[in-house]
Amino acid sequence: MRTLVQIILWLGVGAATALAQSTPHEQRARSIYKELIEINTTDTPAGSVTKASQAMAARFRAAGFPEGDIKVLGPAPTKFNLVVRYRGTGAKRPMLLLAHLDVVEALREDWSFDPFVFREGDGYFYGRGTSDDKGMASQFVATLIRLKEEGFTPDRDVILALTADEETGDFNGASWLVEQHRDLVDAEFAINEGGGGTIRKGKYVTNEVQASEKLYQDFALKVTNAGGHSSLPVKDNAIYHLTNALARLSAFEFPVQLNEITRGYFERSAEVESDAAVAADMRAVARPTPDAAAAARLSARLPYWNSMMRTTCVATRLGGGHANNALPQLATANVNCRILPGVSVESVMKTISETLADPAITISLVNKATPSQAATLRPDVMNAVERITRELFPGVIVVPVMSTGATDSLYFRNAGIPTFGIDGTFGDVDDVRSHGRDERVGVKQYFEGLEFQYRLIKALAK
Ligand SMILES: [Zn+2]
Repeated sequence: MRTLVQIILWLGVGAATALAQSTPHEQRARSIYKELIEINTTDTPAGSVTKASQAMAARFRAAGFPEGDIKVLGPAPTKFNLVVRYRGTGAKRPMLLLAHLDVVEALREDWSFDPFVFREGDGYFYGRGTSDDKGMASQFVATLIRLKEEGFTPDRDVILALTADEETGDFNGASWLVEQHRDLVDAEFAINEGGGGTIRKGKYVTNEVQASEKLYQDFALKVTNAGGHSSLPVKDNAIYHLTNALARLSAFEFPVQLNEITRGYFERSAEVESDAAVAADMRAVARPTPDAAAAARLSARLPYWNSMMRTTCVATRLGGGHANNALPQLATANVNCRILPGVSVESVMKTISETLADPAITISLVNKATPSQAATLRPDVMNAVERITRELFPGVIVVPVMSTGATDSLYFRNAGIPTFGIDGTFGDVDDVRSHGRDERVGVKQYFEGLEFQYRLIKALAK
């Protein structure tokens, strides 16, 4: 998933260290990647996550992992997940590597070539899932096999979970595993998709660590009225009730409320912000009590910064009336909210209701949101990411982020397992193709990401 609003940073520095290619380890990673891409794992009759889980289980078996540490399990025939345990000394509690195997449907006629045939060309790997999320899955599989071959003994068990139905479908593997088989996936912390390196205008700029997600919630607003002949208007008009109330909502702003992650984001971003006034404002909002004037200036400058600092609610749809010559019997609106982690849906609903300030308007929930707790940034994880980023991508800064889209991390965070979106495979912020046509990942970037994951897992497991 790279649908999160990407950070905008103005200073691009550093280029990636060129890594030697085509080591046996890289060749194996490539073949695992190819195998995964060529197994259709869409939520359609043609797709099966189970097939992909079984194929990866076979890889682990061949690499000598004990049968008892390889589990293929799930709640529906085509939705089996894979959980593999790489045993450590047990000195520390386990860490979990999480990647989803399912992909968004891709149609041959929409693509320049078959989306389920792995293809290398013009410096890219092409195929459905190359970026979301089979690149990461293949890197995890290849890395655990490599560590096993090297005789690496971690201080903690390293658990790998490759799961179903992150994108769509009724059998979300991450939530199923955490609820039904907590013992298999229980960990001190977890690494998942959702973060990653950004390339801007050809330059490697930031490596994002995603530790938090905003919550998506739609509210339906509705006013009903007896209506009547439009030649005899009355003050009690459904459309006016609604539009006047929406005008009040448009003027309302939720309070500025930073958390550890967004504070870190502004602090870090200030380091590379070329406009001194903006940098000063970033530092001012990052203080324990955010400076209100600075926050207002940043909000006005960039919607993304505004969205980082507060819960937002905005009218996105409007409907009403049934004839040009009749008083409206109905007026409706949809209000879409992106709620900060830790803020309850109920409190937002109450605030909206108070702001609309009209008892004629009823408000109801359109969707059932899953609350999403933020993860506390762990020094061991952050230090490892910082060090390895410095080693592999000199000049790139590590930035904690809160994303506006959701990943499976929320199920683990909500279960008390801090989960971080970390990915050393850099991608161009202006060329995001996940869920789209001709999805691809740079060949060089894929192998850099592979090396990044190897160093990261080794560092965190010791
Ligand atoms: Zn994804």
